[in-house]
Amino acid sequence: MITAHPGLPEFDYIKPTTLEEASTFLAQHVGEARAFIGGTDVFVRMRDGAWKDKYLVDVKSLPGMNDLTFDPVKGLRVGAAVNMNRLIASPEVNEHYPVLAEAAHTVASYQLRTRATVAGNICNASPAGDTVGSGLVLNAKVHVHGVDGNRVEALRAFFKGPGKTVLKPGDIVTAVEYPLPPQGSAGKYLKLGRNAIGDLAIVGVTAFGYPDGAATPSGYRFFVALASVAPTPFMPDMALLSEKPITEASINEAAELAMNAVAPIDDVRGSARYRKLMVRNLTRKALMDVWEKLVG
Ligand SMILES: Cc1cc2nc3c(=O)[nH]c(=O)nc-3n(C[C@H](O)[C@H](O)[C@H](O)COP(=O)(O)OP(=O)(O)OC[C@H]3O[C@@H](n4cnc5c(N)ncnc54)[C@H](O)[C@@H]3O)c2cc1C
Repeated sequence: MITAHPGLPEFDYIKPTTLEEASTFLAQHVGEARAFIGGTDVFVRMRDGAWKDKYLVDVKSLPGMNDLTFDPVKGLRVGAAVNMNRLIASPEVNEHYPVLAEAAHTVASYQLRTRATVAGNICNASPAGDTVGSGLVLNAKVHVHGVDGNRVEALRAFFKGPGKTVLKPGDIVTAVEYPLPPQGSAGKYLKLGRNAIGDLAIVGVTAFGYPDGAATPSGYRFFVALASVAPTPFMPDMALLSEKPITEASINEAAELAMNAVAPIDDVRGSARYRKLMVRNLTRKALMDVWEKLVG
């Protein structure tokens, strides 16, 4: 009998009680131990035989991992173990970070989102991660505990390739922090999948903009992050929308620029050509949506 999935192999389940213990264990078992939270990537990759770790280290109950806090000055801190449904239900997230809630809402299904986390989505470093773009446009910071203590990494410098990040042996992401968005900002996430729910993005576009007196002559600053069109989540340069007055023509130009900045691959979900065209169309649509929100 041929089976597509070899099945979940045997592994030891490790449940440390402190961050120090967890980091030390992971650092002492490089290549054979892996941290997990929701496990929605980990168990699938283990079942499919792609990962063969001997130890799975459950880090979701470690101190601070389940905290979801909002401070009107510092912004939002999402503990690494906060699942996406909890994030989506948060009044503060909906009020101040609607684009993050919108993106999380496109991930798989309600059932999966009771396990899946934004931290896991980031650490997995898939170019298709739906919640990564909102973190990029909002300039999120990743809090990390390692064998040498705590540090903070900028999300914009976090990804090194498909499945590769700046994380080192023993590193555990403890939280993702989102600064308070600028006054009057607006965002939009558009995801194109093969079906309405439960599929990874063929293309994902996060657009974000806000009034900025220093952005002359337009008076606005825009950021775009693209999913599934490059080896890592990618931010095309949107300076054009500060340097020119915002019109339908300049938005079209910015969308063309985004399309020309990416060189996607063909895969089971879509061809490279289709992806490029969809980058243009969805970027235009997302920017128009943001612009309409900005000008009321
Ligand atoms: C049916 C199905 C549908 C899916 N649909 C989508 C979708 O629509 N969009 C999408 O973006 N994703 C999708 N995914 C992928 C997955 O659900 C997400 O990437 C999710 O956010 C992962 O979160 P998690 O907590 O389950 O991560 P885990 O599986 O626990 O971990 C993911 C990776 O991050 C590492 N990691 C986890 N926690 C830490 C930590 N604290 N510190 C350091 N490293 C850590 C793990 O070692 C692993 O490499 C889908 C998965 C399945 C099974």
